[in-house]
Amino acid sequence: MRPGSAAPELKIEFFAFANINNTIRLREGRLLVRLSDLLEGAPEGVVRAIAHILLAKMYRKPIDRGHAARYRRYVGSHEVVNKARQVRQMRGRKRLHSPRGHIYDLEAIFEDLNRRFFHGLMGRPRMSWSPTRTCRILGHYDPAHNAIVISRIFDHPAVPRYAVEYIVYHEMLHLKHPVRLRGSRRCVHSAEFQAEEKLFPEWERAEGFLKKLCTIL
Ligand SMILES: [Zn+2]
Repeated sequence: MRPGSAAPELKIEFFAFANINNTIRLREGRLLVRLSDLLEGAPEGVVRAIAHILLAKMYRKPIDRGHAARYRRYVGSHEVVNKARQVRQMRGRKRLHSPRGHIYDLEAIFEDLNRRFFHGLMGRPRMSWSPTRTCRILGHYDPAHNAIVISRIFDHPAVPRYAVEYIVYHEMLHLKHPVRLRGSRRCVHSAEFQAEEKLFPEWERAEGFLKKLCTIL
């Protein structure tokens, strides 16, 4: 940055990239920064490191080795690598599959839940079964593509309808309660979220079923 001149206005947002990715652009005097939403809730030192790296890139300055190492260590950590792999599986290049499975139709389930619990007011996102019968992520709401993806493992005659409804209901609550930052921590399932989740009539049965789902199928 030029000494003596005012710092440009900053717009920073988390973005649901398919991979861990961070971008910085200067447009009409404003700095636009997009950080991978996988980094929401990262420790402050890591966030500082990312800020340093992006600004160095933007202004073609050398990148401090300590910051570079700090960032690499974090994104290379087990937890983050795993999370990235799972998200990539679900987001990828959005090849969405039909909402109609062999047993269950996700659009019909959405509309039914919408009427029963949301006064029919929720706009329907794209509904899709996951490409494979994954147990790692049972369901996922992807704000970048406005899509709810449900693991194909649920599209099975041994899965009761209330269990499919419950997982779709959970993802619908993610639409209703967007992720908030509380201080620097990510709050995905807020207290309100959890309270509303329990309004689902078969909440306890469904939770019990989800726990054993992947061992019985
Ligand atoms: Zn959730």
